[in-house]
Amino acid sequence: MNTFGVLSAAQLKKAGFTPWELRCAVALGRIERLRHGWYALEGADPEVVRAVRLGGALSCSSGLARYGVWVPSTSELHVRCSPHHVWVSGVRSERGCSVVENRDAPRTAVDPLPLCIAAAWKCLDEDTFVAALDSIQHLRLLSRAELHDALSDCGPEALRMLRRCRASESGTETLVRLRLRRRRIRVRTQVFIPGVGRVDLLLGRRLVIEVDSRAHHTDAGAYQRDRDRDRALVAAGYLVIRLTYQDVMFRWEACLADIVAIINRGDHRRPPAAPKEVDTQIMQDWSLDAPWRNQPPISA
Ligand SMILES: [Zn+2]
Repeated sequence: MNTFGVLSAAQLKKAGFTPWELRCAVALGRIERLRHGWYALEGADPEVVRAVRLGGALSCSSGLARYGVWVPSTSELHVRCSPHHVWVSGVRSERGCSVVENRDAPRTAVDPLPLCIAAAWKCLDEDTFVAALDSIQHLRLLSRAELHDALSDCGPEALRMLRRCRASESGTETLVRLRLRRRRIRVRTQVFIPGVGRVDLLLGRRLVIEVDSRAHHTDAGAYQRDRDRDRALVAAGYLVIRLTYQDVMFRWEACLADIVAIINRGDHRRPPAAPKEVDTQIMQDWSLDAPWRNQPPISA
């Protein structure tokens, strides 16, 4: 289990630390005492340290992010506290959320995934919550039955979110799908196109929407592969719209207007047809022999 560098006294005891060894490690500065019963090792995750200092555990969307689940990028801290720890100063003043509830007091510095999901249901909007559930299933972190169990205490509305889940490779893709369906635009997900592979979303017969998942493209290879796919799709007769993370999160209305304009023209319904083959050699010769090629420009 990944502790993110923050452990309880019980976890350290289980790992073989005696109380005397623990006191020595703290005195020597090798382990930092965060609050009663909680300690940070060197190199501990700073957000996890902050959450534990505040008297809780990292949970909700901050916890989901630690498990690799897609959630919107944010620097806000999401903490779950038991009612016995809300006296700890600062927990209410942090930006983000502090879920205070009567569940068990945190036993790990980052809540187990089911507890993060339950906390996120109270914090995230419905579309973002479904995006996180899609991501959990895509990463195979929990089965559908385990997700059902995690949501069973959250009420029927939370369980209803499971029915909105689909195969999806990224949270931003889920958000676009949900928003288009809300506008009654029919959309298919993860459609296989020969010679290209799976595309994120297909509208009608030929409008492909590809969605970048993260705020920043750090992988030059992935950037090139995306452009190669776009070129192959256009060559095969598809229309391609590529949406960035910023498009989905901050510029959606403008993007939707463009998608609707294509749909209103009916361009998405036409079957994709590769352009007729052109003899490029003839085109080149014709261009070289063009009679106007060496003529002086026409003056105004
Ligand atoms: Zn939260």
